[in-house]
Amino acid sequence: PGPDEPAGVEKIVRMTLKICLVGDRGVGKTSLLNRYVFDTFSEEYKGTLGSHLLRLTFKAVLAGNQLVEAQVALFDLMGERSMRDAFKEVMFWGTNGFLAVADVTRRDTIRALPEWIRTVISIAGEVPHVVVMNKVDLAREKSIAPEDTAWLLDKLPGVPYHLTSAKGDLAVQKAFDAVI
Ligand code: GDP
Ligand code: MG
Repeated sequence: PGPDEPAGVEKIVRMTLKICLVGDRGVGKTSLLNRYVFDTFSEEYKGTLGSHLLRLTFKAVLAGNQLVEAQVALFDLMGERSMRDAFKEVMFWGTNGFLAVADVTRRDTIRALPEWIRTVISIAGEVPHVVVMNKVDLAREKSIAPEDTAWLLDKLPGVPYHLTSAKGDLAVQKAFDAVI
């Protein structure tokens, strides 16, 4: 082990991962990435043209004292449904995991999640994914309407979900780390 490696590491496993963020426009995909990678937040809405890529190195020690070192490419994709349908092959091919993001204050973005998830899986296969309910700082209570929760559980059984705020730095790291 080199100077950076924790004591007791017996094996180093290196891999590259493609992780995508999907979900409707304005739900906070770019903001979540900026929070996770740079620990910054902006109120300004710029929109994302095409796709944008951020890279980072992720290290974790797994069972059996294996150090996993992943080069992670995080793809921030434009939230247009028409773009998704036209370019899904090039956008999602080779995806190893993804975050499907909704805005807790906009029910239509929650209702759009199953279609986003279905689309990615249709190209990438059954890869790990989580649902991210963003902007909980704007919700009166830190939860979504019970009927939406029930609807999601019915449509997406077993998919873990995270309540996040890119603005308030709530659970953002946990959501990304879980997928990676
Ligand atoms: P994207 O289209 O999904 O990439 O969404 P953006 O990241 O560009 O965010 C859209 C707007 O929502 C911007 O004005 C952000 O400042 C705002 N926003 C993003 N995340 C949060 C959040 O957690 N809380 C609040 N209050 N606003 C947010
Ligand atoms: Mg964006």
